[in-house]
Amino acid sequence: MGGTHPNEQFPLDLAENLQRYSLPHVDGMIVNERARRQRKRFTDVDMQLSYPGDPNSVLYEERRAAEVLEMARNGYDMVIDMHSGLPGSKFADAGMISYDRVYDSSAGLDPDIFRFLKNVIGVRNIMMSTWSPISKFVSGLSMEIDVKSHRANIGYWRRSLNILAESDDIGDATMHDFAFWRLLVGRDIGTREQKRRLALPDIMPLLEEPFPRVTAADFGETDPEIANAEVYAFAWGSKNPKYYGELAVRMSPPPAVQNILPM
Ligand SMILES: [Zn+2]
Repeated sequence: MGGTHPNEQFPLDLAENLQRYSLPHVDGMIVNERARRQRKRFTDVDMQLSYPGDPNSVLYEERRAAEVLEMARNGYDMVIDMHSGLPGSKFADAGMISYDRVYDSSAGLDPDIFRFLKNVIGVRNIMMSTWSPISKFVSGLSMEIDVKSHRANIGYWRRSLNILAESDDIGDATMHDFAFWRLLVGRDIGTREQKRRLALPDIMPLLEEPFPRVTAADFGETDPEIANAEVYAFAWGSKNPKYYGELAVRMSPPPAVQNILPM
């Protein structure tokens, strides 16, 4: 899937390439068609926040999300929702999977996702999103491709997807092969309260290497599950005068993953 955010060009190019030149058992799809025609990131609401969608919604992206989800549920083992961004994210190329789905083993999480990440494309970070990407509702993941990296290459993805679709054995993966992350504060640098506590000019030096040990509690996080977790810079920058950034906490491998992957 390309064009969840049509302002991100590489995934559009890849999805169109897959539509034009078929690859066995792999289909390309453009997700937000209207935003693409209008050359926007979205028209009514961010597609990535629109699942499971609603066929009767007044919002285009919610109607489209329902359509896309219906298609994804019919005949596909895995959905890969592609995004791209500029270099700078420490976890560019992390596999992003819905937090809810990873923690709910009954929802089903294909072990091939982890085998693919580790053995085919060499990704060892799992970012768990707490919003509602399509991977909350179908087995799959989102990928953010650094446009300056070796992965910003159509041939690379055609080869990798072909291995995923055609190979009988793509090797083993265990949970210890991955670091699991949960986003603490997102691009808009979180809620107003978090923004106040962050005191951005004070925190900027902390985000330079080597990142000192800071816990989520230091940022005002009260959720007991993550308050004591260590905080890492995920991506950080400024478009003067606005700061943007993402902070993540490193978590223990979730029990649902322990169920499907050997220790
Ligand atoms: Zn995106």
